[in-house]
Amino acid sequence: MTNLNRRHLLAGAAAMGAAAVTGLRPTVANAATPQAGTQAPGFYRYKVGSFECTSINDGARTFPMPEKFVANIPKEEALAAGEAAYMPKGMVTVPFNPQLINTGSKLVLIDTGNGVANLEASKGAVGRTMQNLQAAGVDPKNIDVVLLSHFHGDHINGVRLADGALAFPNAEVMVPGKEWEFWTSEDNAAKAESNQGLKAAFANVKKIFAGLESKVTKYEWGKEVVPGITSIATPGHTPGHTSFAVASGDAKVLIQSDVTNIPEFFLRNPDWHVMFDMDAATAQATRHKFYDMAAAEKATVVGFHFTFPAVGHVAKDGAKYRLIPSAWNPTI
Ligand SMILES: [Zn+2]
Repeated sequence: MTNLNRRHLLAGAAAMGAAAVTGLRPTVANAATPQAGTQAPGFYRYKVGSFECTSINDGARTFPMPEKFVANIPKEEALAAGEAAYMPKGMVTVPFNPQLINTGSKLVLIDTGNGVANLEASKGAVGRTMQNLQAAGVDPKNIDVVLLSHFHGDHINGVRLADGALAFPNAEVMVPGKEWEFWTSEDNAAKAESNQGLKAAFANVKKIFAGLESKVTKYEWGKEVVPGITSIATPGHTPGHTSFAVASGDAKVLIQSDVTNIPEFFLRNPDWHVMFDMDAATAQATRHKFYDMAAAEKATVVGFHFTFPAVGHVAKDGAKYRLIPSAWNPTI
C-alpha cells in the first residue's frame, strides 16, 4: 500500500513542479484512452430470504417540468423541490425500475418498463429492460410470470417487443382484476374521450393486451399471487394500482410500485399530487397508510420510480417521510 504522508506528497509536488519548469513530462502513461461513451449495465442483486431478486433499470427520463406536474401546489414550489433535489434547472428526472424475483422455482418479472420500442425514440434514455436482463444473464424465454402492478405505459409497454411480438413468450401475464375491469370498460373509455392523455392511455392498454384478453390471469388484492408474493391494495394512482410483499423465511421487502412517484417530491411531501395520480385523494390516503406501515415495520421498500437500484427504507419525519437508500452491497 502506498504510504501517503506529508513528506511523500511534498516530494511528489516538487517533482511535478520540476517537470513543469523543464518541460519534461512526469513518467506516467499518457496515451489517449478512448472514452467509453456509454453507461454501465443497470442491474443490482439483493436477497430476500432464499429468494434472489434483481433490480432491473429500464432507464430514466428527464423532461421539462409540466405546468401541473404537482397538481395541487403552485409550480414555483415544485420547481424549488426540483432544484433542492439537484435536478437540471426547470426539469424533472423520473427513473424506472422493474424487479425480477427468482423464488427458486419461479422467475417473476414485476412490471416491464417503457418497452424497447421507446429505446430509439428516447435516445437510449428508457426501454433498457431487455438489454439489462440480458446483461444480468437472464433469457426472456425463461421468465415464468410477468406480474403487472397497473396499466400505465411505463409499466406495461415492455410486455411487447418493437415488432409487437411478446417479449416474454412463455410467461403467464398476471394483472390486477380491478385494473383490468377499469381499463377494458367501453363506458370508461367513452368517458375518457375528452381527455387526450387518458384517451391515449386507454388506446395503449388496448394495443398492449390485444390478443391476450383471454390469456391474462386476473388476480385479487390480499392474495398470494405467486408463492411468496402477495398483492397489496394500494389504489388511487390508478383504480387497480397494486403493490407487493415479497417474503421468504423471516425476510420481506415491499415492492411499492407507484405509491409515490419520485421520492424527492412525493415521499418528502406525501400530500402533493403527482399529475399521474388518477384519484389523487385516494392516492394520498394510500401513501400515508402504506408508509406508516413500512416505517413501523422498518421494511425494505423498493420503488419503481426511486433512483436505481431503487432499494431503501422509509422513515417517518414529522408529517412527512424520508427515503434512506440502501448501501450498495458487493456480496449478496
Ligand atoms: Zn409509473
